[in-house]
Amino acid sequence: MDFNAHIERILWTEEQISARVSELGSQITQDFSNSGSSSSSSSAAPMVVGVATGAFLFLADLVRKIRLPVSVDFVRIESYGSGTVSSGKPKITCDLKIDVRDRNVIVVEDIVDTGNTLLFLMDYLKSKGASSMSVCTLLNKSAKRKVNVEVFGGGKFYCGFECPDNFVVGYGLDFAEQYRNLPYVGVLKPELYQ
Ligand code: 5GP
Ligand code: MG
Ligand code: MG
Repeated sequence: MDFNAHIERILWTEEQISARVSELGSQITQDFSNSGSSSSSSSAAPMVVGVATGAFLFLADLVRKIRLPVSVDFVRIESYGSGTVSSGKPKITCDLKIDVRDRNVIVVEDIVDTGNTLLFLMDYLKSKGASSMSVCTLLNKSAKRKVNVEVFGGGKFYCGFECPDNFVVGYGLDFAEQYRNLPYVGVLKPELYQ
């Protein structure tokens, strides 16, 4: 089956994504080079936390462009099921392995849509004693935002691309667990889920 035929249009090619990921990696390297980050209370290497599964490719490419020691962990947060509209109630279905206490955490997301997942994760990381939270998301669909996305402890918000209000797949993003391995990000033909 040719999944390329399921794509209405390509938004960002493999080359465009790769170039942007390099820029984000350089920016993060610069920002975290002096004093460990933003937050002076923590000297440990920043901890990169990917939100599974969608962030796995972005995280893998991004950490190779961060020229600093980092630790890497994943958390699984689900609110979508297999549909294309968020249920709005995120829950942790697979917890972090590394203790975030006093760490500068960089949350890596595939896409920020309503903002519910990040708001939930922010409360969670605060409750676990993280000293700061930054966010690095490949895509930002700000047209769909329902809650304010905030960082804390002097953390920053990094974004790859502003995403139009379409359901997109590829480069980690799925529809019903398919299309994650497409090397680009594109709009899924609506007739495939409507
Ligand atoms: P939020 O909690 O911000 O509404 O959405 C978080 C999650 O919803 C994202 O991490 C992603 O897994 C999923 N999501 C939101 N918009 C899209 C989209 O356009 N395409 C895909 N594949 N997933 C999306
Ligand atoms: Mg995600
Ligand atoms: Mg999904």
